[in-house]
Amino acid sequence: MPGTSAGHDERVVFENDEMTAAPDSKLVTLWCPSPNRDQRAIGRAPDMLILHYTGMDSSDAALDWLTREEAKVSAHYLVDEEGRIAQMVAESERAWHAGQSRWAGETDLNSCSIGIEIHNPGHDFDYPHFSGPEMQAVEALCLDILSRHAISPDRVLAHSDIAPGRKRDPGEKFDWQRLARAGIGLWVEPAPLGSDQGFGPGDEGESVAELQRALLEYGYGVEVTSTYGTGLAKVVEAFQRHFRPARVDGRADLSTRDTLARLLEARRERQVA
Ligand SMILES: [Zn+2]
Repeated sequence: MPGTSAGHDERVVFENDEMTAAPDSKLVTLWCPSPNRDQRAIGRAPDMLILHYTGMDSSDAALDWLTREEAKVSAHYLVDEEGRIAQMVAESERAWHAGQSRWAGETDLNSCSIGIEIHNPGHDFDYPHFSGPEMQAVEALCLDILSRHAISPDRVLAHSDIAPGRKRDPGEKFDWQRLARAGIGLWVEPAPLGSDQGFGPGDEGESVAELQRALLEYGYGVEVTSTYGTGLAKVVEAFQRHFRPARVDGRADLSTRDTLARLLEARRERQVA
């Protein structure tokens, strides 16, 4: 992002003329094409929105990396801490942001998603809160994207949802509730934390299978084995980061299970309506 140079705020800057298309969104103030893109799989249009944090110490560094060929990664958009929005890949094209991931049985999620990188140094660097201007810009950009594409609320997801264990972004400090109030994504009030331990790694049985079935039904990449392994703990952590952020410990306590049940119910109600 043009963090150190003035003058980028009110106009679109064409870094090079490799792409002649205009940005997809009027909110974009910097058009900075990334070579790290290709065609979406045949017949696929965006029906999923994936939110990330950059995990780098500055948004300038992130923009530089996401547009370098050697990085082999990109996203459609980057939002910086002051709320400025850069576009790197046209929405019609496939950006490389999801990596190895899975949701609702699908694995080529780059082909069916739009990816937004949000500046935040992340868990490895103190994980600060997302700034007000940044959240405001993310909200506006999401609404703008949702006005162009048919993306159902339950398919507005965190990178951690689709790559549990491998990714933690945008993390438990990200304000999903705020986005939901604006009509972005599916959110239910988390069930209050209790003192129960619930179950966790090493546990087995029907209650574990029930948890696995519920996570799978929502879309998470789990197998129903009736055994609580470390893989399941990572999925539960991902669920907590997004939907029950008060405690992220990978244990299926009552609050976690209740929140998941409420979420499934909320989705069923929407589908019926
Ligand atoms: Zn990510």
